[in-house]
Amino acid sequence: MEVRTNLEKIVSKIESAAHRSNRNPEDVNIIAVTKYVSIDRAKEAVGAGLSHLGENRQEGLIEKVEAFEEQPVWHFIGTLQSRKVKEIIAHVDYIHSLDRRSLAKEINKRATKKMKCFVQINVSGEESKHGLTPEQVMPFVESLKNYPNIEVVGLMTMAPHIKDADEIRAVFQQLRELQTLVQKQSFEHAPCKELSMGMSNDFEIAVEEGATFVRIGSSLVG
Ligand SMILES: *Cc1c(COP(=O)(O)O)cnc(C)c1O
Repeated sequence: MEVRTNLEKIVSKIESAAHRSNRNPEDVNIIAVTKYVSIDRAKEAVGAGLSHLGENRQEGLIEKVEAFEEQPVWHFIGTLQSRKVKEIIAHVDYIHSLDRRSLAKEINKRATKKMKCFVQINVSGEESKHGLTPEQVMPFVESLKNYPNIEVVGLMTMAPHIKDADEIRAVFQQLRELQTLVQKQSFEHAPCKELSMGMSNDFEIAVEEGATFVRIGSSLVG
């Protein structure tokens, strides 16, 4: 399928989901997750109008960065090892996987400008998933005030890979509740306006529950 065709379907689903919850669909940004696909396919995505691309590995990111003359907005969405930070930091606009002090320290040290970060939270508590527990979020976010190169733009989560829509919805709702708690603190370093949640299988629920960035791979670019 052409990216353009997939995108039209996804945009229309996002619009419906946004309207169901009285949201403006324009507040939802689509990140095309290109981790599975070729450089040509990533270029096709940009040609179709997608300006945000996401990669989860350093190699995939650098390879694609090098292939673009004009850079899209790059999102690093995967587990990030501290030792890889210096290789990716100059190329990415957002990091979605900040989940520990050592990583924050390294990002702060290597960044040449304020880095937009999402704090990743393992809401569902699945062992296979990275991220902080909900209880760890507030003290962690607060501790980041000591890192001038880090801005906490929002929270990120991955819902469990299950069919039960109510269970998925509960995960997204909990992320939004955590966001509200952080926002109440009015931290200068953590405006926390964004919610990065929703993938191919669950982005409509995520939009209904307040997602401002959905990360879509397989159903968009393949
Ligand atoms: C791969 C990946 C996605 C996209 O997943 P799809 O199900 O293919 O849409 C989104 N977020 C993260 C963190 C990923 O690793």
